[in-house]
Amino acid sequence: MACETLRHHCGVMGVWGDENAAELVYHGLYSLQHRGQESAGIVSADNDRFHRQIGMGTLAQVFSGPATLRELAGRSAIGHNRYSTTGSASQYNIQPLYAELRDGPVAVAHNGNLVNTKKLRRSLQEDGAIFHSTTDSEIIVHLMARSRSDQVRGKLVEAVSNVQGAFSLIVLSDHALYAARDPYAWRPLSIGRSPDGAWAIASETCAFDLIGYEYVQDVEPGTVAVVNDGGLETERFAEAEHTYHCVFEHVYFSRPDSRVGGEYIDKFRRKMGKHLSQEHPADDADIVISVPDSSNTAALGYAKESSTKFEMGLIRNHYVGRTFIQPTQTMREMGVKLKFNPVGGVLRDRNVVVVEDSIVRGTTLHKLAALLRSAGAKELHVRVSCPPIRYPCYYGMDFPSRDELIATGRDVEQIRRQIGVDSLGYLSVENLLASVPQKHGVGYCTACFTGDYPIPVEDAEEETGTKYRYRSARDEEDEED
Ligand code: SF4
Repeated sequence: MACETLRHHCGVMGVWGDENAAELVYHGLYSLQHRGQESAGIVSADNDRFHRQIGMGTLAQVFSGPATLRELAGRSAIGHNRYSTTGSASQYNIQPLYAELRDGPVAVAHNGNLVNTKKLRRSLQEDGAIFHSTTDSEIIVHLMARSRSDQVRGKLVEAVSNVQGAFSLIVLSDHALYAARDPYAWRPLSIGRSPDGAWAIASETCAFDLIGYEYVQDVEPGTVAVVNDGGLETERFAEAEHTYHCVFEHVYFSRPDSRVGGEYIDKFRRKMGKHLSQEHPADDADIVISVPDSSNTAALGYAKESSTKFEMGLIRNHYVGRTFIQPTQTMREMGVKLKFNPVGGVLRDRNVVVVEDSIVRGTTLHKLAALLRSAGAKELHVRVSCPPIRYPCYYGMDFPSRDELIATGRDVEQIRRQIGVDSLGYLSVENLLASVPQKHGVGYCTACFTGDYPIPVEDAEEETGTKYRYRSARDEEDEED
């Protein structure tokens, strides 16, 4: 396999101090399944005996029976859902990673991607390190292994002080559960607690709701947090003037029932819908519909602000997924219809506002527009709750190459014609930022919309040398067509 640094977007989850740790991590990962479906894994610690269960596919495919979980004994565990990227499907890249360090075993689960890995990997290899995977996460393990600190906490602080880019990661040792977040806090990471005093750390707070844990706080930027039976301790390893939270997490990726800084993503998406309605009204619209599910809340915000009725005009089939590997010719011809069915009674003879959270390639929306018209919709006015995506992401979101993005080299009118709708309006960067919390020390990355990269692109391009891919759920069938 070529030694390319892989890009991924993932979900991580850890529990400390609960007899059912592995089972709780398993359920938490279920809530985070939207963050990755390529592979899944859980490592548990039964004092200093570690147990690891990993595999390719979704959680349900990897943990197919109760026996697989029973083997994961212990009061602490961490788990990982890995995002799918073309060419990266390898057993070697499944997380959590496991390593025997000088002072004991550790397991590591990482979300985000690092941008200074090429030099680090080369220097580690020159120093004798042998890599087992092509993930950038393994670099952190090697840096920890080389640290002279005799504590896992010291090793972790040293390792994360030497890497650049986006990382929200959790580490499990026999002494504690650790979380580390880069100083710009690109990716989310939160701490929760059970009524009995056990701890959990997860990519999104919706994982706590499912297992009955309370959200406590986010892991602060540039901080290592340590939880064990003695409580919670934090140590800052880097300072930044302000964060660069990935604003696309708020637009699309995170679940609306997750909280950031204590506030629900749902609220931000409704505000995006509200601002979208003010910025791009559709005066003769009869109804507002969403492209389910990720656009639902923005559509509700649009409908409320415009005093237009919200209707369910498209029904999504939730059972068409990644098991759909080799489509037959008939299935291919069905295309987007397999995933969405229009409700004729709602759409017929109506002027329809279609709220969509983002347009990447635009191929699905083009097909959806034809589907909605065939169901009787009169006019179609597409409103998008983020600006046009024109640039690749270097911080963990797998967009396609620039050539594949519909907004590259096209203005809004050209995109409208390409998709085949009556009008098209995108939320501006200003109004997107007005929809998310603005306070001292909080800033956002908007690079995929503006090309304004917080970490210089030259570094990232040199590091990656690879083509970025982004697979939204709606884009999967395009690739299968
Ligand atoms: S480039 Fe876009 S997707 Fe990537 S981190 Fe920035 S806002 Fe998020």
